[in-house]
Amino acid sequence: MGTLRVRGEIHIPVSQTKFLFVLNRGLKWKSVSQRVEDETHPVSLNRTDELVVPRFYNGDLWALETSTELETKQKQTIIEFEYSGQIHPPRKDSEMPQMGYIKRDFVELACYSAWYPVPLSMETYMSYQISLDGPSDWTWDANGECISTEASVWTWEQNRQVNDITLVGMPLHDAHIDSESFFWGTKSMVGSQKVFDKDIRKLREMLEEWLGPRGTEAPLRFVITPRQQGGAYARAGMVIVGGGYPTETSLRNAVLQAICHEICHDWFCKASPMTYDNWVDEALAEFCSTHIVNDYVGDDFLTSRIEKARDQLEKAGDLPSIRSLVRDKDESYAAFYFRGFLLLNEVADSGEIADFRKVIGEFARMCTQSESITSDMFLDLIQKKLGKKPRSMMENWLDHSGKGIPE
Ligand SMILES: [Zn+2]
Repeated sequence: MGTLRVRGEIHIPVSQTKFLFVLNRGLKWKSVSQRVEDETHPVSLNRTDELVVPRFYNGDLWALETSTELETKQKQTIIEFEYSGQIHPPRKDSEMPQMGYIKRDFVELACYSAWYPVPLSMETYMSYQISLDGPSDWTWDANGECISTEASVWTWEQNRQVNDITLVGMPLHDAHIDSESFFWGTKSMVGSQKVFDKDIRKLREMLEEWLGPRGTEAPLRFVITPRQQGGAYARAGMVIVGGGYPTETSLRNAVLQAICHEICHDWFCKASPMTYDNWVDEALAEFCSTHIVNDYVGDDFLTSRIEKARDQLEKAGDLPSIRSLVRDKDESYAAFYFRGFLLLNEVADSGEIADFRKVIGEFARMCTQSESITSDMFLDLIQKKLGKKPRSMMENWLDHSGKGIPE
């Protein structure tokens, strides 16, 4: 029917009285309360504009306030809630693609459609457990470990810290099921994609050789959804791709790089999208994927990508500095992907490329073992391993605003 009914609990490991959540505007709260031991206490819930909701979240901001006298006694805050409704598409004037939906042929739900209360003011990272009671003739996947599928109720657990709860589903009779394939989706969507299975296996192997084990134990899989806009995103081993990858021979290298870029997020994804630190995630995903695909296909791929990034950065015109941008700003794409990518290649070229690649490998291992990663952690490691000069070069690039790259 396209509707969603959710009942749940949020466990917040701090004693605080006010929390901000984003929820899709088609979803209506039914009840919200605070649980303290066996008792429930009322909380106030109000729509607010006190912070700007990043445009990629399609939802309203809600302020939830618990009573102060309870606060001091608690080590954590437990919120119980219930809501239901339909996922509404983004407002037309937001010019954002529709990233989530519940339809007859497919379900795609991630933070973009704010189908669960997306935290805004606290740690972005969370673990979760979720049970889904859906139609019995559907199959599902989520960015967690599936622990049971009893009587059409699917349960997943994610014990690591992730920044999203992503859920996809499709009717079983349409499903492409092949344990040898990396692709997950309907037969009609996945059929053309299987040509990339062999490449993905090899690219993943090459990345692991360089960067160490992936940051997740979840199997790598590519979910192809019927969505035509909005591109791809990666969530703990699960890469969600709207519409699938083009299969023309002329685009092969570019597609392999796009695939490889998403796999790279398994190492670098803990750089917060709410701060400029996110440049580290995107620029390193671009850098590592381009270098690996260059190793894999030859064809002077790296040189052509560097030229292309220069052109695209040129076309983007005046841009703020990387340090002054967050992911939600339109200019961040050109700054993080093109300028950030060129910056890394510049540092690589200023010394021995093998040394630089070794440091990136070391940083990747550090990323998978840390709770979060920042630009400073990256710069500190560069300085420790390669000296002050490459670091100040990077600082210079990160502060450069205006056209292109620093002189
Ligand atoms: Zn990316």
